[in-house]
Amino acid sequence: RDSKVNQNLLESHSFINYAENLKNVDIVRKRLGRPLTYAEKILYGHLDKPHEQEITRGVSYLKLRPDRVACQDATAQMAILQFMSAGLPEVAKPVTVHCDHLIQAQVGGEKDLARAIDLNKEVYDFLATATAKYNMGFWKPGSGIIHQIVLENYAFPGALIIGTDSHTPNAGGLGQLAIGVGGADAVDVMSDLPWELKAPKILGVKLTGRMNGWTSPKDIILKLAGITTVKGGTGKIVEYFGEGVDTFSATGMGTICNMGAEIGATTSVFPFNKSMVEYLDATGRDKIAEFAKLYQGDLLSADKDCEYDEIIELDLNTLEPYVNGPFTPDLATPISKMKEVAVKNDWPLEVKVGLIGSCTNSSYEDMSRSASIIKDAAAHGLKAKSIFTVTPGSEQIRATIERDGQLETFKEFGGIVLANACGPCIGQWDRRDIKKGDKNTIVSSYNRNFTSRNDGNPQTHAFVASPELVTAFAIAGDLRFNPITDTLKGADGKEFKLKAPFGDGLPTRGYDKGNNTYQAPPANRDSVEVQIAPNSDRLQKLAPFEAWNGKDALDMPILIKSLGKTTTDHISMAGPWLKYRGHLENISNNYMIGAINAENKKANNIRNVYTGEYKGVPDTARDYRDQGIKWVVIGDENFGEGSSREHAALEPRFLGGFAIITRSFARIHETNLKKQGLLPLNFKNPADYDKINPTDKIDIVGLKEFAPGKNLTMVVHPENGASWDCELTHTFNKEQIEWFKYGSALNKIKSGTN
Ligand code: SF4
Repeated sequence: RDSKVNQNLLESHSFINYAENLKNVDIVRKRLGRPLTYAEKILYGHLDKPHEQEITRGVSYLKLRPDRVACQDATAQMAILQFMSAGLPEVAKPVTVHCDHLIQAQVGGEKDLARAIDLNKEVYDFLATATAKYNMGFWKPGSGIIHQIVLENYAFPGALIIGTDSHTPNAGGLGQLAIGVGGADAVDVMSDLPWELKAPKILGVKLTGRMNGWTSPKDIILKLAGITTVKGGTGKIVEYFGEGVDTFSATGMGTICNMGAEIGATTSVFPFNKSMVEYLDATGRDKIAEFAKLYQGDLLSADKDCEYDEIIELDLNTLEPYVNGPFTPDLATPISKMKEVAVKNDWPLEVKVGLIGSCTNSSYEDMSRSASIIKDAAAHGLKAKSIFTVTPGSEQIRATIERDGQLETFKEFGGIVLANACGPCIGQWDRRDIKKGDKNTIVSSYNRNFTSRNDGNPQTHAFVASPELVTAFAIAGDLRFNPITDTLKGADGKEFKLKAPFGDGLPTRGYDKGNNTYQAPPANRDSVEVQIAPNSDRLQKLAPFEAWNGKDALDMPILIKSLGKTTTDHISMAGPWLKYRGHLENISNNYMIGAINAENKKANNIRNVYTGEYKGVPDTARDYRDQGIKWVVIGDENFGEGSSREHAALEPRFLGGFAIITRSFARIHETNLKKQGLLPLNFKNPADYDKINPTDKIDIVGLKEFAPGKNLTMVVHPENGASWDCELTHTFNKEQIEWFKYGSALNKIKSGTN
């Protein structure tokens, strides 16, 4: 049990720490005096300070030391730029970067990839050189989707990894806790800071029985989404248990964990089992499997009699295939009811496009089972009625199904094989079969189906289902088709029923790795120059923010008093702005453009209190900043809820903000603001929010004595009338106050005074 086993086949410097994880688990179990769930063991096994960490599920904040970090290309840009500004020579933990989000599907794999490489050259060049410089692994465009590559190469039972993408939990299929985070969290781990997570509650899902016929692992999570709704997993880890977990493949478990994101779960996990051993063996990691077996009893499984915060039970024997949607992944309809429900709701019945693959469902098993259905249809002379696209999750999957014939089957069926990338799943789809605004139906084996996500058309009714069901819909071309009960007419005019899908879970001839798309960091990294074109509008080096000047901040204007809900989307919009995620100056042009100004109830229209001129929020902020004037924002409840987007905190700092004062904050946003050297503060008396006028000026005093638990004072100077003051609370701890004083958490790291 004391051997040194590498985490993967690609890195020689990263080892599995089971012995230490187990030691930590034992410490915590003794302290808590109760049995632990599997997810708890992984979490507590990675605690920074297991002896003193306060642990109450759903209450305390855990400080953790993850094993590794994975970033996709859209989110990696700002994460790496921030890391660079800390001035460290290399990342503290293994990190990989994956080029998958920026490839648009248009005509098919090779051409689409070539076009993307051309269009995104500067981003790819930056990522390739920055990863080489700072000792990270780089997966080039064409390599595949982050989560599939992590599963194939990096995931191992008992690991804790974070990834800058919401479907990072996919790796729970190999028994690890894989958690989606924002770039700022990734930077913490890269820079050797402990990473903070609110101790999740544990939702146990007990699986009994065994699936059969047309039912597949996807249906487990589709059914669960229907039970919990999109919010049911919030603040929880979903831990699967029961005899049913041993009846299907590790990649099937990956699908289920992947889509746990759709119920809002922190992550999902399966305990280490035989299917994981088989998958590790098939992907060349038999040593890891053998090592994990040695820890199966005490570390890689739940303690007997452990307690879950709640339990949901699913019987796989009676589980039907599900079709979820449109517009939300928790509107779950069993296939037996689909006909009736679709007609009743007036959903477009013709299936225009069937899309299989993506990070959620592109395993060898998924592809084989879909191909088996197509072969059956082809034997009756049928081809696809709908447009049919296939997105292999990785180059390894693509090469293996090319060698084994499934790819050819898809092509003969009329399928279009897209690049190994996200493509239509993230709206990177130049869809041409319908006009924008046309009401239509598509069915995919992806995970998300919110309005406009796939093709930007709010009239597209997008449903998610298993790849098997998507394939059946593409054959029938009709949303009312139930392959379990309905017949199709063959080319000979005879009615027939499709056979239930079948196929190998793992390739009997092993995986074919395909083209080499991985770039390891070079041994000599000193000579590597990080490439950022000086005139780039997509990438910009970050300059360190200035340190606090040691004085109270006086007479600051209110940039905007925002009314009602202010989410990270209001603060830093997505959509077309995604392009500028690596360019702080350019993306700052979206700062608060979605927030509603309390003064005139308009978005992106605020008054410059010095000139009286009404302009957009970013323009006015820049005007203040250029005059050397610090400003504040006043906000309402739960300010900054939504995603963990760090740009929402970087932008106000870049534009000269000093404090964000609200009734309350969404916690991740609050921490992000602190990391960037801003002051997130709360009204002690929430009613004070109402007393503030957008034209008031603000002093924040008491900063010289700034200390944990000690309130600050805000003095308000109305345009006309007497000044008044009120107390502001805050949640800064000692270390975070240092971030404020140094100007940012990264400045503090750079100072070397940790
Ligand atoms: Fe996200 Fe879709 Fe890409 Fe998966 S395939 S990482 S869900 S965009």
